[in-house]
Amino acid sequence: MTESNDDFAPLLCAKCLRDLTPGAGDFYVVSIEAVADPTPPTIDEQPHGRDLKTEINNLIRDLHDVSAREAMDQVRRGVTIHLCRNCYGSWIENPAG
Ligand SMILES: [Zn+2]
Repeated sequence: MTESNDDFAPLLCAKCLRDLTPGAGDFYVVSIEAVADPTPPTIDEQPHGRDLKTEINNLIRDLHDVSAREAMDQVRRGVTIHLCRNCYGSWIENPAG
């Protein structure tokens, strides 16, 4: 882990940048986990006249272009943010907004 300094970093609300005081109960910790569509890809037979072997070779070549870490990031990402009481109250009503 490279984030061992986090304990000493000042806590700020991710929305309004207000200072947050640990132990004062004035903020929320929000953990967001995003996972790419887990459905196996549909492979049409002979899509657009291209054969499956070419498709797979293209896919393998594409995968070589990204690092393993980047490939993982494309599948699953976890983010933790801090929100003050006010911002949390409006965010939780409309988290995708
Ligand atoms: Zn805030």
